[in-house]
Parts: sequence; C-alpha cells; structure tokens
Amino acid sequence: MNEISPLCLKCNSLMIVGKEFSEHWEYYNCIKCKYGEAKLIGEWLPTDKDTNFLFYEIARKLSSEIDIPLIEAIGYSEKFYKKFTDKKKCDLLGIGPFDDDFFHHEYFGLLFYIKYFIIDEKDPDIHKFHAWRLENN
Ligand SMILES: [Zn+2]
Repeated sequence: MNEISPLCLKCNSLMIVGKEFSEHWEYYNCIKCKYGEAKLIGEWLPTDKDTNFLFYEIARKLSSEIDIPLIEAIGYSEKFYKKFTDKKKCDLLGIGPFDDDFFHHEYFGLLFYIKYFIIDEKDPDIHKFHAWRLENN
C-alpha cells in the first residue's frame, strides 16, 4: 500500500525500523525528530484499498495533531472503524453503521469522531457529539 521514504519527510534524517510491534504494521522512526511512519504488512481493515489508505492518513494526522505515537493513532483509527461499521454497536448508539462513502466524505472530519468517541469516550449520544463538534470546529 505505502512505501516508506528512507529519509524523514520533516527533517531529512535517516528513518530506521522501530521496535514497536502491532499486527499489520511495521514502524519506522526518524533518528532525529519524533516523526514516524508505518508500512502496512498484508491486509488491515476489511474494506477496499482507498479506505485503508484513508484510515492510515487519518492516523498520521491524528498522531501529529495531538502529538501521540503513530502506533497509538493507528490503534484509535482502527477501533473507530470497527465500532462504527458494526451494526450492533451502531444500533446501541441509535445510528446506522457508517460506510466507505461516509468516511471519504468526512475525511479529516473523522478526527472529531475519533477524539470524541474513542479517545475521550464522551457521552455516546450522537446529538451531543454534533453539538460538541460545532463548538470545537
Ligand atoms: Zn526527522
């Protein structure tokens, strides 16, 4: 899916394989700054390539926006994907499951969902979420 540049995109130093381990991903870190990248090994989310790439982009953005390691951000975006495509879990929230069209339409807007529902685990009422999003947008 994605190739890792041998040089850091931020400071141009060398990228080396990280010690982090998670299923599906191999991690690379810059030797100088905190910048990290991950390379997909095999398959990740049970959807098409474009949507997998979208969720990787979301994770990268999340990692830089709130300054958390990429491995953690990938975990959050995966958790979000699984929760909001699961019909039973969505029924409990009183919403229908999200589909790929929705994800591509929202794009970086998905960061709001991940922050609210997955990281902060705020009130799962979707109306409260929309109100929170308006306040924080
Ligand atoms: Zn760097």
